[in-house]
Amino acid sequence: MNRRSFIESFAMFGVAAATLQRPPFFTSFAQTMEKTKAKVPLNKLRKSDEEWKRILTPDQYFITRQAGTEAPYSSPLLNIHDSGTFECVCCDLPLFSSKTKFESGTGWPSFWAPIDKRNVLERTDHTLSETRTEVLCARCDAHLGHVFNDGPMPTGLRYCMNGVALKFTSN
Ligand SMILES: [Zn+2]
Repeated sequence: MNRRSFIESFAMFGVAAATLQRPPFFTSFAQTMEKTKAKVPLNKLRKSDEEWKRILTPDQYFITRQAGTEAPYSSPLLNIHDSGTFECVCCDLPLFSSKTKFESGTGWPSFWAPIDKRNVLERTDHTLSETRTEVLCARCDAHLGHVFNDGPMPTGLRYCMNGVALKFTSN
């Protein structure tokens, strides 16, 4: 191969590689899929404060609608080790699987991942001197607890939940 034909074939290869890397159809299809995914909302459940007060127990109302915190070691869910799903006590949305539950030693039910990232919302919480990340139900905005970066692998996250905000359904 002489020098000129080498340069020519290299140039041809470059064009081919660029075309392969970014087929226009695939790019726009992927972008459309991303947009679609982001736009699939959970049907938001909205109720007035009065309605929540009527439906929930005083404890459930305080924790989920007023961002309260239950006393550590007070939740019966701490001792649940069966296979099942932890759902939002306000709207029944599945939030955590027993597969990601772990013993954190904090006194609050702890998980290293939500059942689906889209089922929880995260919000910066400045109510204490330490900035925390609040975790809420994506459907009804119930306050669930907080997420911290000191959890076990594979995520390294610790979803520190109020048991009062959850109900357990065994599989
Ligand atoms: Zn909910």
